[in-house]
Amino acid sequence: MPKFVYDFTEGNKDLKDLLGGKGANLAEMTNLGLPVPPGFTITTEACRHYLEHGTVPSGLQDEIDAHLAALESSMGKRLGDPSDPLLVSVRSGAKFSMPGMMETVLNIGLNDDSVLGLAAQAGDERFAYDSYRRLIQMFGKTVLDIDGELFEDAIEAAKKARGTTDDAGLTADDLRGLVATFKGIVQDEAGRAFPSDPREQMDLAVKAVFDSWNAERAILYRRQERIPVDLGTAVNICSMVFGNLGLDSGTGVAFTRDPASGQQGIYGDYLQNAQGEDVVAGIRNTVPLTELETIDKASYDRLLQIMETLENHYRDMCDIEFTIERGKLWMLQTRVGKRTAAAAFRIACQLLDQGLIDADEAAQRVTGDQLAQLMFPRFDDARLDGVTRLTRGMNASPGAAVGTAVFTSERAVELAAQGKDVILVRRETNPDDLAGMVAARGVLTSRGGKTSHAAVVARGMGKTCVCGAEELEVDVKAGTLTAPGGVVVREGDVVSIDGTSGDVYLGEVPVKHSPVVQYFEGELSAEDGGELVASVDRLMAHADAAARLSVRANADTPEDAARARRFGARGIGLCRTEHMFLGDRRQLVEQLILAEDGAERQAALDALEPLQREDFTGIFAAMDGLPVTIRLIDPPLHEFLPDLTDLAVKLALAGDAADPKDRRLLEAVRRLHEQNPMLGLRGVRLGLVIPGLFAMQVRAIAEAAADRRKAGGDPRPEIMIPLVGAVQELEAVREEAEKVLADVAEETGVDVPALIGTMIELPRAALTAGQIAEAAEFFSFGTNDLTQTTWGFSRDDVEAAFFSRYLDLGIFGVSPFETLDRDGVGRLVRIAAEEGRRARPGIKLGICGEHGGDPDSVHFCHEVGLDYVSCSPFRVPVARLEAGRAAI
Ligand code: ADP
Ligand code: MG
Ligand code: MG
Repeated sequence: MPKFVYDFTEGNKDLKDLLGGKGANLAEMTNLGLPVPPGFTITTEACRHYLEHGTVPSGLQDEIDAHLAALESSMGKRLGDPSDPLLVSVRSGAKFSMPGMMETVLNIGLNDDSVLGLAAQAGDERFAYDSYRRLIQMFGKTVLDIDGELFEDAIEAAKKARGTTDDAGLTADDLRGLVATFKGIVQDEAGRAFPSDPREQMDLAVKAVFDSWNAERAILYRRQERIPVDLGTAVNICSMVFGNLGLDSGTGVAFTRDPASGQQGIYGDYLQNAQGEDVVAGIRNTVPLTELETIDKASYDRLLQIMETLENHYRDMCDIEFTIERGKLWMLQTRVGKRTAAAAFRIACQLLDQGLIDADEAAQRVTGDQLAQLMFPRFDDARLDGVTRLTRGMNASPGAAVGTAVFTSERAVELAAQGKDVILVRRETNPDDLAGMVAARGVLTSRGGKTSHAAVVARGMGKTCVCGAEELEVDVKAGTLTAPGGVVVREGDVVSIDGTSGDVYLGEVPVKHSPVVQYFEGELSAEDGGELVASVDRLMAHADAAARLSVRANADTPEDAARARRFGARGIGLCRTEHMFLGDRRQLVEQLILAEDGAERQAALDALEPLQREDFTGIFAAMDGLPVTIRLIDPPLHEFLPDLTDLAVKLALAGDAADPKDRRLLEAVRRLHEQNPMLGLRGVRLGLVIPGLFAMQVRAIAEAAADRRKAGGDPRPEIMIPLVGAVQELEAVREEAEKVLADVAEETGVDVPALIGTMIELPRAALTAGQIAEAAEFFSFGTNDLTQTTWGFSRDDVEAAFFSRYLDLGIFGVSPFETLDRDGVGRLVRIAAEEGRRARPGIKLGICGEHGGDPDSVHFCHEVGLDYVSCSPFRVPVARLEAGRAAI
């Protein structure tokens, strides 16, 4: 039988799977000799058993009994003992941190008898009843599922009766009264009395923590953060220490460096005479941690010392929760802290310079997603004239967000679903606001510090957040935000929030490139760009040196090609030609489709050819010396014709006066109409059915290449045939293409070698890749279509229709269009790569679906041994970084 309970002295930081992050790190700190209140951890395995079977595993109770007995004897107190009670907290803690998403109950062990013992031992009746009312409140909310507002309202009423606005103004009598009121609420709402048996309290709390794994907000958070659904949470039973024992006590949170910038210094919040929950919830205003130095110098010094120990031990920035009980410091939690993208890059390089980590590790400490965040636009300072600045709050999570103000999570979700950009405005957020935070472009709160719920969660999500903007009055019920000077913002009014400076503006502020984009653009050098840009430069260089995959771009214009090149692309992996058939050229496409005979068709093609040639010349110039993969036309031709209904209406209105050309056009539209265009006449099929179409495109490519060569350039064309399912299709097109290439070489006197290859985007192509490779010099995996055809999903139809349900059901953890489905689509890619290489050693292999810019998919491509990934120009740096990280 597995062991389900570990004492804090038995675990360590590497046991996160089993003990959860909190438990593993409490154990690590215990074994480092830091002051952690003793306790033990119930494993995630016990939780998984409970969630699956609805009962705790047999043997768990005995193990808990044994560990509790050991805890009691080491503390010299018994749980809930009427004369001198041991109290414990029952705390959730999963493998991945899910701040505030699951439950914790403090002060377990109090009842009408033991509260007297606690009061006597502490010599403080007020403290004892404060602790007791907190227990009933948390227990009621968490274990018995009672609406927390009921308790909050009762506290408000008690404060009003006492004539105070502060929790601290309540007397022992008031709190005793609240205990009675709270018990009444429990009886009314839960239909049972508050359990006075300490052990029953503990067991019920343990189950409630298990159950909180499946709380709605926890599910939503996991989906957002891509945390697997089936891990379960551990439960930590931790002996209580008290921050609410008077002014020489308190509780706080801290970071070993600034989580927003990475700067070293003192970052945290402290609250005197309070228990832990009060700080994170942003309910009462905290003081900056630096003030602890004057409040309690000894504890402050000890805290700084411990923070240094932790940083050196974890070799990373840590965040911590601590409590001071009558001048004695206790550590209640630590973990490698969540940080902003900018801080991640800076901290990695700082730790590298300090010699705590090496360059490989530094590159592993940052991610492509974080780099992508650094490439988001910023507000343009130069264009702030005339813009009203409402206030400056705390810069909790960087970025520039613009949207209409909304005051509830529900409205944020509603309006976002209608495609509106919203800024969620709250006094403070709590875990129930998660859906609104996900839906919003940014979050603005008037209360709470950099460690408040809003700040922590927003940073984790990479969402722009300004918090603690205390000059703003947020009235959620009225749906208004009032700024100094009396400016009132209502739902529908646009606000702009700057998470980098903390500024809040009325109206829409224009944006500009971020410094990191300016750096990639070559407008800002690594030397002049400050610490962040220098860090990015350094880690990118290391990633490039390590990478085996090269990165190309999907680009259809010379401008995009040039940008991609500046961003580090080593060629074009996908140049789509269909946009070259739009605009003024539509006319010519119509002519092509309506052609009654070969001569008319050829005339249309002849007119298109020089236009295409020009397009290609520009792209070859921009990518001089690097490969450019050009995909011959792919979409069904009717996409270039007018809409059926529009045209029919036009004809009907014109009656007899209708243009005969329109009649022919209508016929053509009807003829070409398809039930399922995705699987219809497109790709290579078009090339085989419309004589001369592909030949024209190949000629344009070859002539453009010849022109460039004559002008002294070094064009490297690669001709890509889409939607091939059988080698015979490719052979037929290839023969035609080779003839055109030879013709052009002869006509121009310039021989430009061009590779001819194909996309692998149909399961049949993947499964017969060995045959197809006989006729293909390269494969490019078109994983968008390959995902559609493997799953049988039409992307445009399924995403809105049922993907969220599929995500709920855990059928997939993330959309297969976002991250390549390794098991299905990935298997086809593996087969095709292997068989392709076997048939033609040295065949070039790449991927050009949108997955090419997705970090996880880049790692997959590395593992399968592809030669390159291709993605949109703006994702190129992301893919470069991930290609390097994959190789380290
Ligand atoms: P979360 O994961 O939401 O942070 P925690 O389990 O850390 O939940 O607990 C919530 C708050 O209660 C924290 O501030 C924590 O420091 C405090 N806390 C938890 N256990 C104890 C304890 N044994 N003594 C004092 N404070 C505690
Ligand atoms: Mg905590
Ligand atoms: Mg395709």
